[in-house]
Formats: sequence, structure tokens, C-alpha cells
Amino acid sequence: MKPKTIELLPCPFCGNARVNHDPHQSGRNSWDHVIDCDECQAIGPGGYGATAQEAREDAERSWNTRVRAPRSRVGKGRKS
Ligand SMILES: [Zn+2]
Repeated sequence: MKPKTIELLPCPFCGNARVNHDPHQSGRNSWDHVIDCDECQAIGPGGYGATAQEAREDAERSWNTRVRAPRSRVGKGRKS
């Protein structure tokens, strides 16, 4: 099984693309994973999972969900 690689969006506060990963095993089958900004120390929402990989993906998804990409999504779902 190949681990999925999620591309992280830059920091929503300072736009820095370099973020730190801070995985932590909190139990035999439980991990948490925090992503924080290297530049402004903003801390993303934590991720949780049974494995380090799961926790990391959870944290990455949360980080990306939280970030509002400056790119606008126009063109689809036109209202009448
Ligand atoms: Zn930042």
C-alpha cells in the first residue's frame, strides 16, 4: 500500500510554504500529528489516527481545509 502524499497549502497567515511536522505517539495504537508554520508559529489543527501515517494525513487534510486558497473558483455551478 502506497502512502498518499498530500500537498500542503502554504500558511494562511504569512504564506510561508515551509511547515513543521510534529508527530507524537500517544498510545500503542494512537498517534497525533501537529503541523505548524516555521515562520509565524501558527499551529494547525491536530490530526489523529491509529498510525503515524493516518495521523499525518488527518492533520494535512485539516490544514488544507482550514486554509483559504487565494485562487478563486469561478465558472462552475452558475446560478440563474
Ligand atoms: Zn505562517
